[in-house]
Formats: sequence, structure tokens, C-alpha cells
Amino acid sequence: MRKKVNLDQRLRRVFLGGGIAGAVAGILFTVLIANIIISGKEEGFEKQQTKLEKEIGELQSQISKYNAAHNNTDLLSGGEDGWMLVLVNETHPLDTSYIPADLYEVESERSVDARIKEPLEKMLGDAEAAGLSMYVASAYRSYDQQRTVFNATMQDWISQGYTPLNAYDETKKSVAVPGTSEHATGLAVDIIASEYEALDDRQGETAEQQWLMEHCWEYGFILRYPPEKADVTGIIYEPWHYRYVGETAAKEIHEQNITLEEYLGE
Ligand SMILES: [Zn+2]
Repeated sequence: MRKKVNLDQRLRRVFLGGGIAGAVAGILFTVLIANIIISGKEEGFEKQQTKLEKEIGELQSQISKYNAAHNNTDLLSGGEDGWMLVLVNETHPLDTSYIPADLYEVESERSVDARIKEPLEKMLGDAEAAGLSMYVASAYRSYDQQRTVFNATMQDWISQGYTPLNAYDETKKSVAVPGTSEHATGLAVDIIASEYEALDDRQGETAEQQWLMEHCWEYGFILRYPPEKADVTGIIYEPWHYRYVGETAAKEIHEQNITLEEYLGE
């Protein structure tokens, strides 16, 4: 029941944010249209209107991103259970200054939000007990670290002959744009099979990933970027990226074969 209340609060905040964005855009639109009419430039009206509508659309998306960033920081820093369900993606960024209050080093130089220490260690321990060998390749990443990863990947594409713009688009498919990475929450981990370390689709065929995909929900984790859901998540299939969402949400997401976006109705 607690989760429900928090989710409602969260949705209300998003709705309020959208309302403010709409009001601001509405006022701007009225003022700008009035200016065009007053200045007697009616002949270019339609062209101007299209341009303005585009600008307003961009403004609305900026405002909603700004709201999402603040809502996300509030959720993550709050004392209630809402932190587990924070949504970080391209349209729901996280404030670049956010740092988890309490970091726990699960492996050398691999830290997570201390709130997921127990379920993560239990999951890894049970997997090991089942005869599997894996390790946490990446966990909490700050905004600056994410920027470094993003730039390095983009540089790889450029060196393969891509233009900077195309390299940016290509990089975005596999590396979250800095400020939109779940790794900045401290609630996401990349887990890799010891005997097959490549980050590609075949990683998903290892016994380690097969076990994790089957059991992660029991520990409150989900496979965050499943195959054939890139149009929803904005990120291609990543058989190594697991995200803590709590046991209740993880069970529902697993059973319904949906993404966090779909679960939250975003
Ligand atoms: Zn990841």
C-alpha cells in the first residue's frame, strides 16, 4: 500500500510539472502571436506559427526534463520507498549533481547505493552457490564518469569514419547520454560472466545471464533493457544491465514481460 501512495504522489508531481510547462508555453504562444499580428506581418503568419509551435514543443520538453530531474532527485533522496522506482532515461534525466548519500563498495572500485547492498549480495551469492562465476563490471557512475564513457565511445565511431553527429546518434543507442544514465542512481549494475566478458548479445546466452534473467526478480532486480524493447527504453538489448526496483515491482515487471517505463505508465 505504501508503494501505491508514493507512486500516486510521483505521478501527481509529474502532472503538476506538465501543467506548469503547458501554462508557460501557452502564455508565451499568446504573447508571440500578439506581437506578430501587431507588427503587421500576417503574410508570414503560418510559417511563423509552425516555427513557434516547434520552439514551444522544444521548450515544453526542456521544462518537463527539468521537472523530471528534480522529481528524480527528490525521490532518490527521500526517506520513503519511492526511490526504488525512480525512472531515469533520455526524457527523464537525473540532476547532474546527484550522488547517493551512502555508497557501498560491492567489489573493488564498484560501488552501489548502500540501500541495495543486501539484495545484490544475496543474488550474487546464490548465483555463485549455483556454480556460476560472474562479477560486477560497472556500478555507480558519476556524471563525469558517464561523460568519459560516452565521449570515448563516440570517439570510436568517429575513428571508424562517422561524422560527429552520426557518431553521437550511434553512441546513444548503447551508452546513455550523460545525465540520463541509470548508473548515476547507484541502483544499476552491469554483471558479466567471468568466462565471456564481451558486451554483446552473446553475453545473454551465457549460463550466468540465463540464471540472472530467470531469478533476478526474486531479489528485486529487473533486466532493464530487454530485447525488442529498444523503442520503449531507448536503449538496445543489454543482457548485462540489471536494475533494482524492489521485489513487488520486479515480480510484476517479470511476470508481465514489460519495462520499467511501461510499469510506471510513462
Ligand atoms: Zn549498464
